[in-house]
Parts: sequence; C-alpha cells; structure tokens
Amino acid sequence: MMKIQRINSRDRRGAAMHEAGHIVIAEHFCVDVARAAIWPTPRANALDEKTWLGRVQIFAGSESRPDVWRAIGVAGAVAEAIWFERDDRAVEENYWEFVFDEPAAMSPSDWKLCRAEPEIDADGLAAAAAVVADLLLGELREKLIKAARRLIVEARMERARKLKCFDDGSEVAA
Ligand SMILES: [Zn+2]
Repeated sequence: MMKIQRINSRDRRGAAMHEAGHIVIAEHFCVDVARAAIWPTPRANALDEKTWLGRVQIFAGSESRPDVWRAIGVAGAVAEAIWFERDDRAVEENYWEFVFDEPAAMSPSDWKLCRAEPEIDADGLAAAAAVVADLLLGELREKLIKAARRLIVEARMERARKLKCFDDGSEVAA
C-alpha cells in the first residue's frame, strides 16, 4: 500500500502536469490563459480519489478553430498520460484511438474545453491528442515541465500565505 505522502506528491505532480498541458498548448496556439492553479483536497480515501485538483481558465477570445480547442482540451489528459507512462508509449501509434469513446476519458470541464462530445468527436480528439503528444514530448517538453513546476511552487506559496494569515489572525483563510 502506498503511503499517503507518496500518493499526495504523485497526485500533485499529476495535477500540475495536467494543467501545464492545457497552458502550454493554449500558448502554443496563441490563446491566452487567464489563470491556472492546483490545490490539495484532503480525501477520506486517498487511494480512490485524487488528493490534488487543478483548474485553468482560458480566454475564448476570437479563437474559433475547432482543432485548436480540441488540442487545448485534450492537452491535460495527454500531459498526464505522458507523465505517468514516463516514456514514449503515450505517442505510440493508435494509443489514442479508443480513448475518447468513453466520457470517463476526460473531466466534464475538459470535454467543455474541447467543445466535443464522447464518441461523436472521438476521431477528431484522437487526432488532436496525437498532435499534442508530439508537441509535449518534443518542442514543448521543457515548457511543460517548467509550467508544472511553477504551479507547484505557486501552490506552496499560496499555502504559506494562508497559514500566515491564520497566524496573524488578520484574515480568514478560504
Ligand atoms: Zn483539464
């Protein structure tokens, strides 16, 4: 059985890689990211539920190309797959072909970000995921890791800030 601390850091890295995937792919297509963050969510059962969550807010702006939204939307799942596989299996041929038939392939917010529906858009999403995996393992690899690290550092600073507020008694932490 994995120790809780190990689960925490695994989930933290997973959440950071996920949001970093959305960020670097959005930036790659010149779509602005309003904000992104990850935070811990203590769970009663850390083995079954993720102990870290994340969120990214992206300016819809004037971007209307469906392929761009698919790429941004799948980027979180792709980045996580790449991280947890820890090798290039995530971009092996046909890896993504059956993934997007299932609603469980992504969170509801990721489906929304993709502007796509399970099954209906599976082929388009598989194609987008293959392109995104190439980018994240290739020219954007360093940016991905830097963005993930930044999210982790920011989460640590946010936690320190909240603790300090408690100490001062001057502010109530949310
Ligand atoms: Zn996501």
